[in-house]
Amino acid sequence: MLSLGIDIGGTKAHAVVLDDANEVVAENAVFTKRGSDGVRSVVIEVATSVADQLGVGLRDFDSVGIGIPGVVNREAGEISSAVNLRIERMPLRQLVADSFAAPVRLDNDVKATVVAAGMLLDSLSVTYVNFGTGLASATLAGRLIRGNDNAAGEIGHFVVNPNGDPCRCGQRGCLETVVGGAYLAPRMELLDLDWTTLDGADTPTGWAAYDQAVRVIAQIVTLVSVAYASEHIVLGGGVIQAAPWALTAVKSFLIDRGQMASFPDFAKIAEQVIVLDSDMQAPAIGAALIGQGWTEGYKL
Ligand SMILES: [Zn+2]
Repeated sequence: MLSLGIDIGGTKAHAVVLDDANEVVAENAVFTKRGSDGVRSVVIEVATSVADQLGVGLRDFDSVGIGIPGVVNREAGEISSAVNLRIERMPLRQLVADSFAAPVRLDNDVKATVVAAGMLLDSLSVTYVNFGTGLASATLAGRLIRGNDNAAGEIGHFVVNPNGDPCRCGQRGCLETVVGGAYLAPRMELLDLDWTTLDGADTPTGWAAYDQAVRVIAQIVTLVSVAYASEHIVLGGGVIQAAPWALTAVKSFLIDRGQMASFPDFAKIAEQVIVLDSDMQAPAIGAALIGQGWTEGYKL
C-alpha cells in the first residue's frame, strides 16, 4: 500500500508517501503556485516527484489525500476562501482526479495535521494550533471536532485587543494580527526586529514585542485548553518553527501564571504543550491519513 499525502501551504506544497506501517518512504516539497491552475499544476508536480523517487506512476498510489487552507467541502471536493492561495472557489478534486486511479480526498490543512499529531502521539485527545500565515486550531477529542461547515477551531479572528492592528476580516486586534505570519513578518521588518532571535532583543521595542508574543501564544494555549482540555496541545507552523525560544518561554509564562491563579491548572497546561519533532512533515502525513479514510479520528 502506498498512501500519498499532499499539504498545500501558502509557500510550499509538501508531499509524503506512507507505506503499510504509515512510515514515510518518500518526501518532497516544491514552491506553491497560486490560483486554480497553479494549485492544480503543483499537485501534479509534487505528486510526480515522489512517485519518481519510488519508481512508480501516479496511478499506483492506493489512496490520495490533500490538505489545504480555507473552507473545504469534503463531499463536493471543493475549496473556497483560500485567501493566501488567491482562490475564491475551486473544484480541486475534479481538476486532479483524472491523474490518479485512487479516489482523492480533501480536508482542511489544520484538521489533517491534528489527525497526524494524534497518530504520532498515539492519542485521540489532541489540539493542534497552527501558527502559519494565519492562525487556526483543530482538535481530536475521541473524534475530529469539525463543527458546522468544518469550521471548529478557527480561533485566528478572536479579538484580544480592540485597539490593535486592523485585520483583513474587518476587526481590529485579532489573535492573527499578533502572531499570524502575514502580519508578524511585516511588523518585525517595520520595527527592525528579528523574530528568530527576539528573545535576545536589547531594545525596549524588542522587549515589548517579545513580551507580547509570549503572552499571546500563552493566551492561545490557555484558550484551547479551557475550550477542549486536550491531553496534548501541539504547537506548529512556520512562525513557531522560526522561533526556537517560543516553547520554553511560553511554558515559563504559564508556570509563572500558575503561581498567581489556581484555575485553570497552568502548571499542567505547561506540561501538555509541545512542538512535534516532525512538525514540518505532519501536515502532509495528515493529508495521507485523510486520503486513507480517516474522517473522524478513527480509521474507517
Ligand atoms: Zn481578524
